[in-house]
Amino acid sequence: MKVLSVNAGSSSLKFQMYEMPEEKVLISGVFERIGLDNSFYTIKINGEKIEKKCDVKNHGDAINKLIDELLENKVITSLDEIKGVGHRIVHGGDKFSKSVVLDESILKEIEQLNDLAPLHNPANVMGVREFIKAIPSAVQVGCFDTAFHQTMKEDRYVYATPYEWYEKYGVRRYGFHGMSHRYVSERISEILDKEFCNVIVCHLGNGGSISAVRDGRCIDTSMGFTPNSGIVMGSRSGDIDYGIIQFISKKTGKSIEEIDTDLNKSSGMLGISGVSSDFRDIDKKIGEHHKPSILAHHIYVNSIVGYIAKYFVELGGVDAICFTAGVGENAPHIRRMVLDRLSCLGIKVDKKVNDEIRFGKEGIITKDDSSVPCYVIPTNEEVMIARDTANLI
Ligand code: ADP
Repeated sequence: MKVLSVNAGSSSLKFQMYEMPEEKVLISGVFERIGLDNSFYTIKINGEKIEKKCDVKNHGDAINKLIDELLENKVITSLDEIKGVGHRIVHGGDKFSKSVVLDESILKEIEQLNDLAPLHNPANVMGVREFIKAIPSAVQVGCFDTAFHQTMKEDRYVYATPYEWYEKYGVRRYGFHGMSHRYVSERISEILDKEFCNVIVCHLGNGGSISAVRDGRCIDTSMGFTPNSGIVMGSRSGDIDYGIIQFISKKTGKSIEEIDTDLNKSSGMLGISGVSSDFRDIDKKIGEHHKPSILAHHIYVNSIVGYIAKYFVELGGVDAICFTAGVGENAPHIRRMVLDRLSCLGIKVDKKVNDEIRFGKEGIITKDDSSVPCYVIPTNEEVMIARDTANLI
């Protein structure tokens, strides 16, 4: 069965087509700068990557071009071969605790959550509507970034703010990156051959979050009401004292919205180092003994170690700690800095193996006598979407 896994942003559309249940990727790609000048798309097929510049006016236009490519490349011979389209949807609020088949009434429910994710949900829903128009015979499925974290209990997701904020306005911890945390926790359960296990998942990408997972269910996660809380990220601050917002507003005359932008786009690794939000750029500067970049690394590692320690205690010990996403998969020095700090728990990193596991490799990075095995597990949110879509079909 052929299933598309898609992620529609405000000016982009990422896609993968899978043959299910084999989970074979038939074609993948991304449309960028939709509705802007110089729009283009790239497709990967049979190990070849092709970039095409063309005018992509809107998402409907992108989908039509995608369908043309599928037909031209003989990935499909007719549209009804596409049995399902799975959509990544950022926010499911507390309404959606798993992936669902989408119809107009569910889309309206999702739209009621737009206030919670004003930058993402409207684009996600618009993508769904365009796919319904373009491929009406396919089952459309919504897969929510927040759903995996819906198993958290009240004492983990309610903030110590006036309770009415939660009741009236839905102010609570939601958590994000759910498809990734779920993928990694399912994979580690397979690797350990243990259905019931305690796992800490460190999704360290440009955005980053850490989750405590017991028996496949999330019990706590570092992102909160928005993706800005928790660990330090590429350009996001992570946890800060909220008093800073009022203080900076008074000092600079900036509005809350401007400060929010600063905390999202000019903080984190970029804010501290002044170099970049990308660890590769910062690593180069560290080679030149650039002090702010070195400081950024230490602050980053501190924030990760803090969450791992907290979740280690919350879970009452763990069967594994897993690293995933851009930094977690590709930056052995960050993993080593984190794990060295956890040596008081008896964790012993294997420096040689740790250095070798990167660029899509999966494996264990601790010594045999480490109290807890630690793993690198490359994430795969797209395949989770395809799996949920195929299952719901
Ligand atoms: P997102 O999906 O949030 O955009 P990713 O999981 O793709 O993020 O991670 C992207 C980040 O991973 C980059 O910004 C960069 O900091 C980091 N990264 C990617 N490759 C490497 C590498 N080889 N060494 C160090 N960091 C890397």
